[in-house]
Amino acid sequence: MGKLWSKTRSGLALKERALRSRLIQLLGDPEAGSLQASYSVREAPCGKPECHCHRGGPPHVLRVVDARFDKKNHQTTIPEAMEPMALEWIARHREIQALLAELTEVHWEKLREKKKKPPH
Ligand SMILES: [Zn+2]
Repeated sequence: MGKLWSKTRSGLALKERALRSRLIQLLGDPEAGSLQASYSVREAPCGKPECHCHRGGPPHVLRVVDARFDKKNHQTTIPEAMEPMALEWIARHREIQALLAELTEVHWEKLREKKKKPPH
């Protein structure tokens, strides 16, 4: 959504409607997760000294999900099969955050509009 047309009053209303409807769509699906986290794939040796990874064999691949909530860092590894789901949940959260940020812009404009025209 471009800034040019969104500055007009009807443009703002259209933008707000579009933002709300996309948010409702994103939040309405009970199967669709939303995860504020990052995902990385790392290679690391394991804790077993007898393992091939300590004898020149291929390293283990770790799929790591890092999240921060409750003022703490949280980390867990997931199996490869869960990777698409985790990425989808992370992407959904980013989109929700971006939409909320745009909604803040819309309501900031509204707040300023209302200030100019006090109710009578
Ligand atoms: Zn190992």
